[in-house]
Amino acid sequence: MSEASVSNRPDAAAAISTGFDAERIRADFPILQQQVNGQPLVYLDNAATTQKPRAVIDAISDYYCHDNSNVHRGAHALSDRATAKFEAARQKVADFVHAQAPAQIIWTRGTTEAINLVAASWGGANLQAGDRVLVSAMEHHSNIVPWQIVAEKTGARVDVIPVDETGTLDLQAFAAMLDEHVRMVSVNHVSNALGTVNPVAEMITLAHKVGARVLVDGAQAISHWPIDVQALDCDFYTFSGHKLFGPTGIGVLYGRRELLDAMPPYQGGGEMIETVSFAGTTYNQLPYKFEAGTPDIAGAIGLGAAIDYVNGLDRVAAAAHEDALLAYARDKALQVPGLRLIGTAANKVAVLSFVLDGAHPSDIGMLMDQQGIAVRTGHHCAQPLMEQYQLPGTVRASFSIYNTFEDVDRLFAALDKARGMLL
Ligand code: PLP
Repeated sequence: MSEASVSNRPDAAAAISTGFDAERIRADFPILQQQVNGQPLVYLDNAATTQKPRAVIDAISDYYCHDNSNVHRGAHALSDRATAKFEAARQKVADFVHAQAPAQIIWTRGTTEAINLVAASWGGANLQAGDRVLVSAMEHHSNIVPWQIVAEKTGARVDVIPVDETGTLDLQAFAAMLDEHVRMVSVNHVSNALGTVNPVAEMITLAHKVGARVLVDGAQAISHWPIDVQALDCDFYTFSGHKLFGPTGIGVLYGRRELLDAMPPYQGGGEMIETVSFAGTTYNQLPYKFEAGTPDIAGAIGLGAAIDYVNGLDRVAAAAHEDALLAYARDKALQVPGLRLIGTAANKVAVLSFVLDGAHPSDIGMLMDQQGIAVRTGHHCAQPLMEQYQLPGTVRASFSIYNTFEDVDRLFAALDKARGMLL
């Protein structure tokens, strides 16, 4: 890839025009308007976290400038305003994922805490020796370790749904693993390391036939297409605000009402109680039973603003744009000598994971950074998958709505330069 191809962008863009104006979207994100190491920033680490539009930054700032107060204490105007905004955000999340009621939306710190909540509370109450929890070989550590912890406590076992060389989950093997001992299936909707979209609807149908519950880790799916938890018929769905153009520190657990109602509290403290006495304590109703302590009020409001922002997009066109970026990047990747794509499943989001013969991923990442290109390198919190592929890690470029074909050109121009320096 030569520098000349970078300036070739209008042709490239015209060849793969999706009708989606990523340049206009880009203008909404102040952080993207900067230079890094003397070059305009190309941000391709969206699977790790997405950037925030001005509307989200303003909503958080506005809250702190005008409304900051603790929620649900009802003693004064600021508290009333903070509570109204905080609960309005919960309603926005409920609508966004098509939950039956906002009471089924539990605020957490993120996907990690949401999965830990289910593993500790549901798992602690429902798992026993001989029970099985199924997770896939392409899970993020946050969907492995919480189940290992509860398995150790209860005597349950964590079994692994196989994933093949292309990064595709083996649905047949999954079906064969299901029996009456399987109590929980916990899988990601989309793999962060590979971009694979998993067939969770089929998996939920199969799992329910043997009476198992299903948690879907939606951390990587939520920004790419509309999620409907009722249509999926999942028992739990989790995601993080910061991967949906919202702030860090806020996330969501959606749960089926009867399950949440029956689950014991996860943490004890203020807000989650109805009455407290030394003779015994009674717990608050949903969703507060699972929200001990002062919540991340600004985070919830910021996430609400992010959802407003996403709802203002043409999501079909946005997804088509991301797909076109992936196709364009894949074509370019296939022309790079010694480059091997990791994760070539038929159904995947715009994540390009790769290794280069003779070069360590972290060296490539460093040389890309020197050219203003932000990519992720390493095991992507999916060490078991890297072990299966016998890789120390990969270089991962993950695309979002504000990325352009020029970004892809810049990525490969920088990679060409890095190759020249390393090989
Ligand atoms: N699950 C998946 C698939 C992820 O990609 C991530 C983060 O990268 C997580 C869970 C954990 O999310 P968080 O760190 O926001 O809790």
